Amino acid sequence: FNHWVDVQMAPPDKILGLSELYVKDPNPKKVNLGVGAYRDEEGKPWILPSVKEAERKLVVEGLEKDKEYVPILGSGPYNSAVQKFIFGHDEFGKKLIAEKRIVSAQTISGTGSLRVIAELLNKFYSVKKCYMSAPTWPNHLNVFRDAGVEPAAYPYYDLDTNSLDIENLLATLNKAEKGALILLHSSCHNPTGLDATSEQWDQILEVITKRELFPIVDMAYQGFATGDPIKDLGIVIHKMTKMHYENPEKLPSFALCQSFAKNMGLYGERTGSVFLVHESPEFISKITSQLKALVRPMYSSPPCHGSKIVEVILNDEKLYKSWLGDVAKITNRLNEVRSGLYDNLDHSLRNWDHLKRQKGMFSYTGLSKDEMLKLRSDFSIYGTDDGRFSLAGISNRNVKYVAEAVNAVVK
Ligand code: PLP
Repeated sequence: FNHWVDVQMAPPDKILGLSELYVKDPNPKKVNLGVGAYRDEEGKPWILPSVKEAERKLVVEGLEKDKEYVPILGSGPYNSAVQKFIFGHDEFGKKLIAEKRIVSAQTISGTGSLRVIAELLNKFYSVKKCYMSAPTWPNHLNVFRDAGVEPAAYPYYDLDTNSLDIENLLATLNKAEKGALILLHSSCHNPTGLDATSEQWDQILEVITKRELFPIVDMAYQGFATGDPIKDLGIVIHKMTKMHYENPEKLPSFALCQSFAKNMGLYGERTGSVFLVHESPEFISKITSQLKALVRPMYSSPPCHGSKIVEVILNDEKLYKSWLGDVAKITNRLNEVRSGLYDNLDHSLRNWDHLKRQKGMFSYTGLSKDEMLKLRSDFSIYGTDDGRFSLAGISNRNVKYVAEAVNAVVK
């Protein structure tokens, strides 16, 4: 007997599919520009020295006492350390912490954090529609759709001018349903690397308050825009804590989804957090209890190794400084690669100035799908069809090869 109903093949994950093609390619010059994980100058994954030292302390110095279950919403010391790290550098954030106006929960990295907030909103929020930038990280659509929230798009990137399509962005949000959800990238927008300016954020926030939208800020690349995680906290977070604190009627609540995957290199450790800010401590208690009720049947509680590493780094002054150095090192290398690519591109063929305006791990080249396919077939250079390069796959060893290949395909 067979009780399975019509199981078809699911569409493959585009980025992981690209990595498979890369692995199979025998060309010794092949380059993987798909996956958004940092690689060092030799093209190898890099365990941050600060993370190694934190692990040594856990094991050798015996800071790790057990491998017990952590509470449903994560380790208490982790949650308070991360809350202080994210909100404690901001005048209004400090007040929000002191007045217990922030729900903090440890989650299964950034994806888990987005999924938990999407599930919560689906259960308890009246408008089940979330506006996302076009383009955005493709998994955003899946996460919200699978949690029962309908994804909608707001224009973001103008491919003709390689700049922010602010006019159409504002026009779309101005027509959004009152109370709809809106997903924002705090900095290093994925995939475009293009962030709103302070003035543009003001305009966006004005529409958010006018249409009573609920902002969810996704912060997956904190540190990679300026090289400093604190400076990088994102104009939008500073603006939102201020607006919320001074005028809660304008912005009664917002959420923040945070990940240590990229800035601590804890990809596989699945360590991140979700925050929800609200003016009412009573509401905060209710949300906290509902989050527990929601997480318990999904995965019981988050893993503990990554969160212990984060705790050790954030609570040890010397190690924290060393981590800041590691983040700066990653950002410097990405920026060097970006300049190297820019310098080796043929500027008589196309204007590449937008590359210089982009921040973070990615370069949104503006190359067409056909050009990306040609890079793949003729040069074994594997980037996504939308023209995005993960700069982590480039180094001094292959930057010329990549740039010359691009020059050849755009000719
Ligand atoms: N948000 C964005 C924009 C991302 O690019 C990513 C990862 O690539 C994530 C969230 C989530 O990453 P993770 O679940 O590994 O923390």
